[in-house]
Order: sequence, then C-alpha cells, then structure tokens
Amino acid sequence: MKIEIDTHTHSVASLHAYSTIDELVNGAKKHELKGFVLTEHGPALQNGLPHPYYFSNLRVLPPEIRGIKLFRGVELNIMDETGGLDLPLEYLKFLDFVMAGLHEACFRPNSKDANTRALLAALENPYVDCISHPGNPVYPVDYEEVVKAAARCGKALEINNSSFTVRKGSDENCKTIARLAKHYGCLTSCGSDAHYWADVGRFDTALAVILDAGINEKLLINSTLDNFTEFRKRRKAERKSA
Ligand SMILES: [Zn+2]
Ligand SMILES: [Zn+2]
Repeated sequence: MKIEIDTHTHSVASLHAYSTIDELVNGAKKHELKGFVLTEHGPALQNGLPHPYYFSNLRVLPPEIRGIKLFRGVELNIMDETGGLDLPLEYLKFLDFVMAGLHEACFRPNSKDANTRALLAALENPYVDCISHPGNPVYPVDYEEVVKAAARCGKALEINNSSFTVRKGSDENCKTIARLAKHYGCLTSCGSDAHYWADVGRFDTALAVILDAGINEKLLINSTLDNFTEFRKRRKAERKSA
C-alpha cells in the first residue's frame, strides 16, 4: 500500500518546526504524495503560537502548489477531561481536517480513566475528525474503549510515524490500537508529524504497523486521495447536521 496524503505536518508557524509551507511541498513531491494537510498546533501549546486568525486566514492559500494538494487543518490540544479544545468552533468551520490530541503542556498526564474520558469526549465533538498520536505512552488509555468509540463515531485514530522515535514506548500501544482498529472496523490515519520538510510523507514504521495488523486501504482514510476526499465529504455533512 502506498499512502497518497500526509495528514499531519507542521510548518515554521508551529515555532518548534523548521520549514516553510513551500518547503513542505518539496517534501511531499520527494515522497511522491498527491497532497498533505497542514496541521499547526493549537494556540495553547506554547507562547507565541498562531492567533486563531491564522487558521481562518488559511483560505488565502492556494488549494494546490506545484501539483501538490494543500489541505487546511489543525492539531488542537485537548485541554481537559470534558474534551475542551483550544480553538473556538467558529474557526474550525474553515478547516478541512481537525485533529485533536493530548500534549503535556496542556493536559497533565492523569489516570487511565481520566485520559480515556478526555479522548472519548474529544471524539464526541462533531468538529474533531481524528485523534493524533493516541499511542503516546505518557497517557495510559483504555484502548478498547477509545477504538470502539472512534468506530461508532466514524472518526480516525492516528498511527503517528514520529511516535516511534520521539515518543519512546509508543510501539506496543500503536500495535494494540492497529489490532483493535482492524477488529472493530475503526478508521485510522497515518501521519508523518513532520516538523522538517524532508519528513513529509515519511511513514515507514507506522505503515508497517498498519499493514501487520491487516488494516486495508479502506480503513486508512489517507491511503488515497479518493479515500480522503470521501472521508472529508462525509465528515462535512456530519458537522453540518450536528
Ligand atoms: Zn502532537
Ligand atoms: Zn504534530
């Protein structure tokens, strides 16, 4: 299986990332992608991160740069056990793809029950499409509950390629998530979480975990441009009716 869309990338606007959007395009071309989602961090992660206007103004960017499709996204911070997020809903409606995840600067690692409650609540938010790096070992989670909830809501759980190097100890958790996702028919996404242009489209370890679990192209929302388009179309309709 070859992945056509990278659903998780950061540009210099994320402050601890090092490439411009045009450089990210170079990475996408190098790895022969059809497109990528720009998913800067939500404003609560770090001082100086983009104002919410940054996200509403993403509409000025062209939908395609040098043959690479550019999707507007965000990686929000889950702030509390009720699934509170760090960008008001009126900004989320401008975005093609909304990820939310747990980060230590915004959500202190808590008990398994509390961490699980936070993820379940985020999944219930009609604007959230995907949970980023749920395999992070810093946050013990009841994976069975989270996978079942994501499957019920038609949302995706990410197998994050950077987790295998940056979030040590993610391996077994990601394998568990992939195995359960296959079992319950839960959607997954495979993101590079690139913070440098050359990593856009780098999926080696994450994709191996996905393939080992027997997850097929249909359960991986970003395997093809068509799959991703179909996923976004359905989610857009669901957001509207919510
Ligand atoms: Zn993250
Ligand atoms: Zn990220």
